[in-house]
Amino acid sequence: MTIMSSFFDQTACVEASHLNGFAGNRLDRLSEARDETSLAAASADPRARFLLFAEERVLIAVNGQAGEAAFDRTAAEGLGILAGSLVLLGAAAGGPRLAGLVEAPDNLPETIKAIDLRSLANQGLLNAAELGAVAQARSMLAWHANHQYCARCGEPTLMRGGGVRRDCPACSAQHFPRVDPVAIMLTIDGGRCVLGRQAHFAPGMYSALAGFVEPGETIEDAVRRETREEAGIDIGRVRYHSSQPWPFVSSLMIGCHCEALTTDLNPDDSELEDCRWFDRDEVRQMIAGSHPGGLIVPPRMAIANRLITAFAEWDG
Ligand SMILES: [Zn+2]
Repeated sequence: MTIMSSFFDQTACVEASHLNGFAGNRLDRLSEARDETSLAAASADPRARFLLFAEERVLIAVNGQAGEAAFDRTAAEGLGILAGSLVLLGAAAGGPRLAGLVEAPDNLPETIKAIDLRSLANQGLLNAAELGAVAQARSMLAWHANHQYCARCGEPTLMRGGGVRRDCPACSAQHFPRVDPVAIMLTIDGGRCVLGRQAHFAPGMYSALAGFVEPGETIEDAVRRETREEAGIDIGRVRYHSSQPWPFVSSLMIGCHCEALTTDLNPDDSELEDCRWFDRDEVRQMIAGSHPGGLIVPPRMAIANRLITAFAEWDG
């Protein structure tokens, strides 16, 4: 008997995206099962748990090195959840998962902290699935807050399906939450790569270059255009590595390695404070925190770290 191998057996690999922060969301979004009763039913379910935000920061019940982002209804009401802000994220194994805003948390209990999402990902207070759900929640709440009016006719819109879209009662337009694709790329020339730093980066930090994908553009073309604009380098081959939901506020980082065809740098001073070639040994020191000049790369949760680490660990 011949055992048929499939295309995917031959190209089997661990999905590199799973190593990126915010990438572990396992909620069933119930996209096809929702109607106009879904939000109320989920909210009234005694198993419902609520992810709560004070503007951009998420509330976390902190107990030592462990954190809990999912509050039950009693706790959520005690923290002042704003009923009109609720959206249904989906279903976890234990029941419905919702997100909502609380009033400004001036009087939080000692054990509950309002934490920005970058810090949360770096601190490792939540497991990957919870951190991913928090990222979904942040992007969804921001989208609803910023799309109260119809982009076509200007009339107020209404949330539908527990938050999967907003409808305009005046012109019947349907509006869906948007995701903004960003290409982030590590340019490679043999044993060296291009890293740049923006003025607002942490001291000594250098990272991969990045930019929004524009309308009518492939990912590969965006990589080539952005690298030419920011570093002045022409790019040949582009290879996808992994992706990362990036909830600031609703981007999808699409990480690639790309091949330099030219090597003279001509950085865009308006975007980059510095940009230069780094050889593999120097990059390894930056990752290890042992660089003699104190230079570093972004933290492990960031896709830029994974792109840079993949290059540093390759010994071909
Ligand atoms: Zn309209």
